[in-house]
Amino acid sequence: MHDKKQTVSLVFPVFNEEACIHQLWQRLELFVPTIANYAVEIIMVDDGSTDRSFELLAQLAGQVPYLKVIRFSRNFGHQIAITAGVDRASGDVVVVMDADLQDPPELVLDMLTHYENGADVVYAVRRSRLGETPFKKKSATAFYRILNRLSNISIPHDTGDFRLMSRRVVDALGTLRESERFVRGLVSWVGFKQVPIYFDRDPRVAGDTKYPLRKMVTFALNGLVSFSTSPLRCASWVGFGLSVMAGVYICVVIGLWLTHHTFPGYASLMVAILMLGGIQLMTIGILGEYIGRMFMQTKNRPLYIVQDEVGF
Ligand code: UDP
Ligand code: MG
Repeated sequence: MHDKKQTVSLVFPVFNEEACIHQLWQRLELFVPTIANYAVEIIMVDDGSTDRSFELLAQLAGQVPYLKVIRFSRNFGHQIAITAGVDRASGDVVVVMDADLQDPPELVLDMLTHYENGADVVYAVRRSRLGETPFKKKSATAFYRILNRLSNISIPHDTGDFRLMSRRVVDALGTLRESERFVRGLVSWVGFKQVPIYFDRDPRVAGDTKYPLRKMVTFALNGLVSFSTSPLRCASWVGFGLSVMAGVYICVVIGLWLTHHTFPGYASLMVAILMLGGIQLMTIGILGEYIGRMFMQTKNRPLYIVQDEVGF
């Protein structure tokens, strides 16, 4: 073992969670003393909440020496909030978790055991997910299947951002500054020894999910576009397939013409035009997804703006 006590940093993104903060803190106060061999640092990133989340956290930070709070100037999004917390974490190990107690803090002890046995990343796989709609569960499963099929790195299924990372993983992650972030993919990309740990995900203790369908779709698209160029290639394949079909159809039409069997072409023309128009717009849309992200990236804006810091 190491001579000096190592530090573990717990990072929580917080967006309008005033209903959860009290329970979260009660649970953490009980949990922190059970981490025997490590010093503890807790970093809460307030992602531009419009409720009293920041005030509650700042008040706690005034009383608790190991609690640090960052407040963004506006809502930058879950993935950016995680990034900021990990950027600021000083620990030898960093654990990211939800502020709604869906990720049980007690699991961190098991994660630390894996870390001590040589793992650089310990990611928490959801054996079951309580309190979530069947639609969310089904769509998530389908999404990870597709993502893994299309991308050339393997991103674990049924896994969120609840994970432990060693210092070298955190440092490597810090060098990846892409603006449209899909953190779980970036962590997989970094490599090193990554091991799973299984748990049953609780429902959130209070409040509603901060991931409405619109945000979930953007998030999924970011994952797909950041880690795969296959959708671009799909235009070529569809084009190729259509050309083959058109070639066959031309032969048929010539054959009918030679045998004097002509037929009115209005309906088939409409079908062809509409289908081609649809496919063309769709492929332009796919191009647009990539070009839009290139555009955002070329501006090189900072990922987030910090308004307040407490406890640093
Ligand atoms: N969150 C955030 N910014 C956002 C949306 C969510 O910081 O724009 C936080 C939120 O407070 C929570 C975590 O990210 O701690 C995960 O969000 P949520 O629990 O709503 O997602 P779910 O677990 O339902 O997928
Ligand atoms: Mg949650």
